[in-house]
Parts: sequence; C-alpha cells; structure tokens
Amino acid sequence: MRRAAFIGNLASCALAAACASRASAGAYTVTRSDADWRKLLGPDRYEILRQGGTEPPFSSPLIGEKRAGLYRCAGCDLALFSSKNKYDSGDGWPSFWDVLPGAIAKQSDYQLAEERTEVHCRRCGGHLGHLFDDGPAPTYLRYCIDGLALRFVAGAT
Ligand SMILES: [Zn+2]
Repeated sequence: MRRAAFIGNLASCALAAACASRASAGAYTVTRSDADWRKLLGPDRYEILRQGGTEPPFSSPLIGEKRAGLYRCAGCDLALFSSKNKYDSGDGWPSFWDVLPGAIAKQSDYQLAEERTEVHCRRCGGHLGHLFDDGPAPTYLRYCIDGLALRFVAGAT
C-alpha cells in the first residue's frame, strides 16, 4: 500500500514542478544507501525518517519533555528545533512553533486527498513530520513532528 502510494507520488511528480526537490535527492549533504539507513536507524526510526511514516499519536515520550535543550535529527544529528519553541499542542506529537534557521526543507505531500506540507531535515532529507498554520503566536505555525525522527539533547538551546 505504502509502496504503491509512493510510486504514485513519483508518477505525479514527473508533471509537478512542486515535486522538483523530491527528485533531486542529491542536494542533501548526508546521503546513505537504503540498507545503511535501515541498519543505522532501526526499524521504527527508519519507517518514519526514510519511508515517510507517522508514529501513533501520543506515543512519543518527547511530547512531555519540558527540559531546555535541542531536538536533533535522529538521522544525521543536525539541530532542528529548540525547546524554546516547543509547546503543548495536544495533537499527539511533539510540536514546535518555529524551527532553527536553515534546519529543514519543505515539500508538498500528496498521500492524503488534502495537500499537506511535509517537513524534511535539510541535511539528510529525513522525513520529520508536517507543518500546519494553526500554531500559536508569533508565527502561527505548528510543526507536528514525529518523536522518532528526533533525538533530544538537554542543555544549551
Ligand atoms: Zn538529518
């Protein structure tokens, strides 16, 4: 099912300029073979980061994480989010109203009937979650991120 949807995406991408970034995976500075990612990440993180999966809601221990620190990409260790921008959205996933400068890439996601904005790590291309426009001030954005895509490091923000 997932593979069929993915192939469908590729087919529609051939016609859509918005998908250009998906085709140019070489733009990421951290690249590995699929087998290497699988080995490095383990099955759960691999499913999220490399297959575009979504973890079950309210499953991540990071939802309740209140300490100061940085949320890093579980694939390449790039710092993505600061605890300063984290908030409790109640949506079931770790949520942030802003991202660290230059940390992510965005692209359209056509897996559901309604188009959503997918959020990827700028350095390794790992799929992190989605971006919505119903967050709190001052950005009014909600980065809805899979906890399995992140590694929290307590300390400096
Ligand atoms: Zn990364």
